[in-house]
Amino acid sequence: MKVALLSGGVGGARFARGLVDAVDPAGVTVIGNVGDDLDVLGLAVSPDLDSIIYALAGLHDEERGWGRSGETWEALATVSSLGGEDWFRLGDRDLGLHLVRTQALRAGEPLSAVTARLARALAIVAAIVPATDDRLRTWIDTPAGSFPFQEWFVARCHRDEVDGVRFEGVARPAPGVLEALGGADAILIAPSNPYVSIWPILAVEEIRAALATRGVPCVAVSPLVGGRAVKGPADRMLARMAGGTTPAHVAGCYGGLIDALVVDETDGTGPLAVRRIVTQTLMTDLDASRRLAEIALGAA
Ligand code: GDP
Ligand code: CA
Repeated sequence: MKVALLSGGVGGARFARGLVDAVDPAGVTVIGNVGDDLDVLGLAVSPDLDSIIYALAGLHDEERGWGRSGETWEALATVSSLGGEDWFRLGDRDLGLHLVRTQALRAGEPLSAVTARLARALAIVAAIVPATDDRLRTWIDTPAGSFPFQEWFVARCHRDEVDGVRFEGVARPAPGVLEALGGADAILIAPSNPYVSIWPILAVEEIRAALATRGVPCVAVSPLVGGRAVKGPADRMLARMAGGTTPAHVAGCYGGLIDALVVDETDGTGPLAVRRIVTQTLMTDLDASRRLAEIALGAA
């Protein structure tokens, strides 16, 4: 079975892990958000791709939800003590990956190629592809001004309410993305933040068009449990920008692009424009992630 998954970081990576457990990973392509990518201390960091890589390699920190397990922070402590840029948390082990990626990008290797190389080196069987090799950046409009995504999310702890989300840059799909979407038996959208994890992927015009004209079912999984985000600001963003946090508000983020929405059993039963699949969506462990992936695939 061939499956294409649109994914952000934490929620996406947790779901991706279950997906490659549920089906042959050789048929899975994870299309990752790059709208959060940034340069820190001269290094090219792709937080969402890294969460996916670490999760599929089994190197992720379960507790934190991002970064590597057994991480240490000596390099960052040195940076701090020297008055360097220390607002973005880069662990020692994590740094090694950023060094390799940064060197490759500087040498002219596309992000998709270096991502594939990193995944191969970590014995990951599924394909992990950035939505685009081009520069695409998420901007957050708030009452306090407009901020690049990470400045709002990390430096300002996403405390500002969000009035709008914008994507800077004209981007083409990375090699492999349209092929994965066109060749898939099912397309899935992970329980990621719709606005800042999935929309930046859909900001690539040809990806949006591929979903809009899909010949196979597309199933999204809601990132809300009981109307609340499990982690992060998705619920606040939905309340302010969509006017609520029901399944209908989540589905509204994907108008015309999905055939079904997997929602948690604690969520509302109001009208929904797409097929509703009700289950437990909390991914407390790998078993729960696999079960959720199986249910999403079963709906496709
Ligand atoms: P980010 O890029 O690291 O912010 O990660 P994502 O956008 O992929 O994931 C963040 C979203 O994942 C949040 O909105 C969470 O509510 C959602 N999420 C995290 N864990 C779970 C879970 O176990 N179940 C569900 N349904 N959503 C989850
Ligand atoms: Ca992210």
